[in-house]
Order: sequence, then C-alpha cells, then structure tokens
Amino acid sequence: MSKVKLATAWLEVCSGCHMSFLDIDEEIVPLLEKVQICYSPVADPKAIPKVDVGVISGALGNDEEMEIAREMRENCDILIGWGDCAVFGGINCMRNTYSREEALVEAYVNSPSTVNPEGILPGEDIPTLLPKALPIDYAVKVDVYVPGCPPDAETILWVFKELLEGRIPKVPVDMMRYD
Ligand code: SF4
Repeated sequence: MSKVKLATAWLEVCSGCHMSFLDIDEEIVPLLEKVQICYSPVADPKAIPKVDVGVISGALGNDEEMEIAREMRENCDILIGWGDCAVFGGINCMRNTYSREEALVEAYVNSPSTVNPEGILPGEDIPTLLPKALPIDYAVKVDVYVPGCPPDAETILWVFKELLEGRIPKVPVDMMRYD
C-alpha cells in the first residue's frame, strides 16, 4: 500500500504545534511507515507538492501566510487546521484591538528588547501585515479542526489513525479537555 503523502506548514505561530508531533514518542515510528512527509518547515522545501493531507499550524498574519494557506489548500485533498492559532487565531489575535500601525510601532520601536532609536519601521521588503490576525478558515476551506495549544499526543495519534482508516476525523469533545 502506498504511503499517505503529508505536507505541513506553519504561519503566524510559535513552533509548539509542530513540536507536539514529537510528543507521540515511539509511536512516530509505525506512523512514518504509513505516512510520507513531503513538505514541512524543517525540510527546506521550495514549493508545496500535491499531497493527500495538508496540515497548517498558525494564524493568518500577513500576505505571505495568506498565499501559503491558499497554496496548501490547492495542493492537498484534506486540510487540517492544527492548534488554536490555526483554528481560532490564538494568541496572535491579541494585536487585533490595535491598528496595524500601532502593532508595528510596538514591535519594532517600543518593545523593551528592541534598539531602534530612529524608529524605523519595516518597508516593502518584508511581508505586509494584515489588519488583523485571522484563523485560517477566513481564507481557505478547512476539513478537520484540531484545537489545542498545542494539540496533545493522544489527539494527534487519534487524528492520524482516523485518516489512515479512511475517515475524516472529527475530534470528540472529550478530547478537548486540557486539564
Ligand atoms: S496553538 Fe499554541 S503551540 Fe500551537 S502555534 Fe499557537 S501558540 Fe504555538
């Protein structure tokens, strides 16, 4: 049987959701016998190939991330929103009560760890910040929602087992407790 082809991308995000894959520990070995990772942030990929399953962690925060989300959607059969940032916008939405300009000044001028006495703000050489951080389903159709910050190992394994059985996973409510 051919392996399920998988692509993963992270958008506006910490790396916690991708790192949570490693929390499944030794279970990753049998999983990789059935799943082939064709594209991921740790593999220096150039373009998203055609895959069976796409995973996106992180929110939409700038125009480049919007483009990546659309590219992933075009190239995968099943798209998974992975983690609270992708599903709800997550911690990125803390900036949403401020304007884009206020957020840039806070990040590039006022933040205690920044030395920028001339108050120079980034120009067109970096991706343009969206007015608000958004969950990915503002831009693309999402087939599977996997909340959690990050999703836990039990949920990750369950989702992949469902996919490998040919089912579209719908994470049960009792798997969404984080106590
Ligand atoms: S959901 Fe949590 S762990 Fe995942 S990317 Fe967002 S902040 Fe990081």
